[in-house]
Amino acid sequence: MEAHRLSSTKPVQSLKPTKKIPLEEDTGKASDALPLPLYLTNALFFTLFFSVVYFLLSRWREKIRTSTPLHVVTFSEIIAILSFFASFIYLLGFFGIDFVQSLVFQPSPDVWIAEDEEEDDEVLLAKEEARKVPCGQALDCSLPPLPPAAPIVTIQKVFDEKPVTVLTEEDEEIIKSVVAGTTPSYSLESKLGDCKRAAAIRREALQRLTGKSLSGLPLDGFDYESILGQCCEMPVGYVQIPVGIAGPLLVNGREYSVPMATTEGCLVASTNRGCKAIHLSGGATSVLLKDGMTRAPCVRFGTAKRAADLKLYLEDPDNFETLSVVFNRSSRFGRLQGIKCAIAGKNLYIRFTCSTGDAMGMNMVSKGVQNVLDFLQTDFPDMDVIGISGNYCSDKKPAAVNWIEGRGKSVVCEATIKGDVVRKVLKTSVESLVELNMLKNLTGSAMAGALGGFNAHASNIVAAIYIATGQDPAQNVESSHCITMMEAVNDGKDLHISVTMPSIEVGTVGGGTQLASQSACLNLLGVKGASKETPGANSRTLATIVASAVLAGELSLMSAISAGQLVRSHMKYNRSSKDVSKAT
Ligand code: ADP
Repeated sequence: MEAHRLSSTKPVQSLKPTKKIPLEEDTGKASDALPLPLYLTNALFFTLFFSVVYFLLSRWREKIRTSTPLHVVTFSEIIAILSFFASFIYLLGFFGIDFVQSLVFQPSPDVWIAEDEEEDDEVLLAKEEARKVPCGQALDCSLPPLPPAAPIVTIQKVFDEKPVTVLTEEDEEIIKSVVAGTTPSYSLESKLGDCKRAAAIRREALQRLTGKSLSGLPLDGFDYESILGQCCEMPVGYVQIPVGIAGPLLVNGREYSVPMATTEGCLVASTNRGCKAIHLSGGATSVLLKDGMTRAPCVRFGTAKRAADLKLYLEDPDNFETLSVVFNRSSRFGRLQGIKCAIAGKNLYIRFTCSTGDAMGMNMVSKGVQNVLDFLQTDFPDMDVIGISGNYCSDKKPAAVNWIEGRGKSVVCEATIKGDVVRKVLKTSVESLVELNMLKNLTGSAMAGALGGFNAHASNIVAAIYIATGQDPAQNVESSHCITMMEAVNDGKDLHISVTMPSIEVGTVGGGTQLASQSACLNLLGVKGASKETPGANSRTLATIVASAVLAGELSLMSAISAGQLVRSHMKYNRSSKDVSKAT
């Protein structure tokens, strides 16, 4: 869980507001005066205020009429005067202060200002500001001028349109039957034909069964129809994960704003700093080397000889065409690329590799494999299919086969970071980065017996992008296999950095990619859905973006470690100053 945010780079610092804006929870409110619901407290003080005003005015009129001196006051008048002030102060506190403040303090774009600006950074940043697309808000944090009509209303509208779920009497009956076990929880969607209602009922039944509250886990504001039969069974709500933006990430001549869903402080800021260093150095180059998803069933024979017969048959180039025709029947996009077998005695593991268009491809490859197994049964009737997956694929487990052969997209990405940028943005030197990389990412990982883990924190970036874009986060295991290389170039002045990632498993169709939030993140990257022109182009571009973002993350974290800032910045940005015991 390593990530870092430098405390002294200009863009990162500019994220810090100079005025501390207190959180709502920290601020005492006038309505807290009495332990009553807000509307009752307000009603009470309103009534008090107008009653005493009426009383005092009538007393005043009476005194004038009877020529009684005004300063001669009775006990009830003293009480009325005190009540008048108390209710006036309350009403001013509740309605008045915010209104006055909104008149006195106009929102100023200067609330976010950069600290610790360095003269030399100006030159670098001038170049950065000359970028084509103004998506550098992540780097340049000064607020843009406010648009005339606030688009935030759209977000508000979405929530306003969805009324908070209210359970009816009929729902109550169903909840009771779920609690009693007469209605299976999993059957609610099909029984009710309303996914949202099913989730609400299941949730309520769960709370009653467990005696535990789910308040805090939102239910409203999610399209439960969109996950039915595809993404999640038996939903009771959804977890909110913030999405941050790192970028612009300049790769292959294009700028990308990279969405990262994470709850790890420093991670987005650190990646953002890496993006800045890459941008100021002319960008990264990311090359796709291979694109093929794999599935490896396990089959068993009576003898090792028969297993060997099948291996020879499958690996014979003369049989490939027949097998690919059979395999490719499963999909318009799945195209068999190769077959690689491994034998363990009488057992054969057959690793099929196929292209999968813009899909990550697990379903597609599995269907093709099933076709081939059915076909083989004719010539090899003694073949016993143990399982469609025999772990030689290898999915969601660390395995050398993926590290060596690749799985999904294999990508290499490089950048040459200027010495100036290393010093001024990354606050370290080329020499110390190269040394750290050799001792940590290469030697240290070798000492640890790493498998594909020759990097600082590739999985941090991969996981955050995967969650934001609807990938399968479990595939982070092999998708994060990465070797980070660094060397001094141009007479030792500049830094050459590369990341080689052989198993990036991503798709832009299927799975979680079609859900609204994830789809929006893919859209931001310009890779939403199926590529119309070239099937597979979107998912391949996504893989090159993932590798480039990893490069940015490696650059920044390695710099932080080499400059000795990691712990300091984590203590500052990754540790809440809230008293957790009180919060609990
Ligand atoms: P996966 O194989 O990654 O699990 P799915 O099977 O869920 O993915 O989704 C792939 C589906 O999307 C297939 O039915 C396929 O026919 C369809 N599809 C549409 N356009 C494309 C495309 N450009 N590339 C890949 N699949 C596509």
